[in-house]
Amino acid sequence: MTHVREKHWADAIAEEILKNPGPHEISTGISPSGEIHIGNLREVITADVVHRALKERGAQVVLDYVADNFDPLRKVYPFLDASVYEKQIGKPLSEFPCPCARHASYAEHFLEPFLASLAKMRIEVKVYYADRMYKSGMLVPQILQALKGRDLIARILEECTGRKVEAQWSPFNPICQSCGRMTETLVTGWSEKAETVDYTCGCGGTGTVSMRGGGKLTWRVDWPARWARIPVTIEPFGKDHATRGGSYDTGARICREVFNAPPPFPVTYEWISFKGKGELKKSKGNVLSVHRMLEVVPPEVLRYLVVKTRPMRSIAFDPGLPLLSLVDEFDDAASQARDPRALELSGAAQFKPVGVPFRHLVNVVQMADFDLEQAIVILRRNGYPVEDPGALKERAGYAIRWLREFAPPEAKFSVQRSLPPEARDLAPGQKRFLAALAAALRPGMTGEEIHALIYALAKEAALDPPTAAFEAIYRALLGQPKGPRAGWFLAFLDGGFVLRRLEEAAAT
Ligand SMILES: [Zn+2]
Ligand SMILES: [Zn+2]
Repeated sequence: MTHVREKHWADAIAEEILKNPGPHEISTGISPSGEIHIGNLREVITADVVHRALKERGAQVVLDYVADNFDPLRKVYPFLDASVYEKQIGKPLSEFPCPCARHASYAEHFLEPFLASLAKMRIEVKVYYADRMYKSGMLVPQILQALKGRDLIARILEECTGRKVEAQWSPFNPICQSCGRMTETLVTGWSEKAETVDYTCGCGGTGTVSMRGGGKLTWRVDWPARWARIPVTIEPFGKDHATRGGSYDTGARICREVFNAPPPFPVTYEWISFKGKGELKKSKGNVLSVHRMLEVVPPEVLRYLVVKTRPMRSIAFDPGLPLLSLVDEFDDAASQARDPRALELSGAAQFKPVGVPFRHLVNVVQMADFDLEQAIVILRRNGYPVEDPGALKERAGYAIRWLREFAPPEAKFSVQRSLPPEARDLAPGQKRFLAALAAALRPGMTGEEIHALIYALAKEAALDPPTAAFEAIYRALLGQPKGPRAGWFLAFLDGGFVLRRLEEAAAT
């Protein structure tokens, strides 16, 4: 049986897209209403991978990111101070202050770290700010088409969603000049010549606003307006937009029938769920922001996670212990050139693993008490050549931040500088075992040899339960009952220090 390598999903999508020779623009967009979380990352990484696959084929293609900073604040999220933000509900995110007071606006507060994260992942995007698109007048032609096509749009929405559109509904939401909100206004008239819209507001205000930044198209119309205007030929979106009667369905019809433009090629993706804590939703506050995640996951690993998985398969992301396996899986793939296409599309084809499993590095940095020079000394003494100390230190930085942020208690330990109190109440059999171990250890023994020695001596000491031997070692050195694999652990520590400590614990 011959094995035919399955085409990578990005290649399959690229070939499908290139039935239309282009030029192409792939558009991504995430509303900066709160921390942009790891679930959202799938959108830009998916788009970036398709972008790479298209560019390789010589296509003319641009990757953009539309910052929806002109969307209104929907509610006071759990991470916000209600006394400050209650009164901002309904106002565009670009138009009121941020929580730290150091950014130009609320939207900018969340956009800045997100855009920095994209740069860190070497994802280059052309950024459009929705407020500037509106304020510059770029969307005036689409606003006019939408206002003129109001009845047609209402009919499309009713046909696709099965929901009745109210008589006073308008595709345009003016921003009330009295209260600053765009969620309480009703359109009462408009002028094509003056490019203005008249409104009344729930607050009692009435007025006339410009089509250049005085309001915005409602979401279901805003999306296709942008497709037609930019124009967008490829649009990735989460599965919630892909349902029958969902915003892609209505958007595609509005794009064709109202804006006279072809809708973009859809690329639907599943969520990244945050394992153990349910799907990541900003509104619930259980947010794992992209920039915080990039502190503990190397960018190439995060990209690889998305690239190796078909878009419509869910990804469960667990930043606890499973993260160590993920990093090691990536290193394995990179060192054995397994899954070469996924590596290439992750931008990791030239990546050289540091040669120390991440899981192991997490232990080594703790054995070295977070002193990275010392960690390198320990590694070299134990048969790891560490050819690139700079790369090793960079990786160790991820291990250290993981220990601080996400490591469960059982992954943490600290070698005690003096005999810990927990080593003082060892059973006589445990003390005899430690004395025998101290007597049998020889300089230069490997982890494997020490491991075998511990087993043999524990059997001789006939401790009950047998794990009491390991517990004695951990109590003597760490002051806790458990720790990293004992043979390798002892091999990694300074031999003289280990001997003195075992003898001291045996003698108490
Ligand atoms: Zn801020
Ligand atoms: Zn108002």
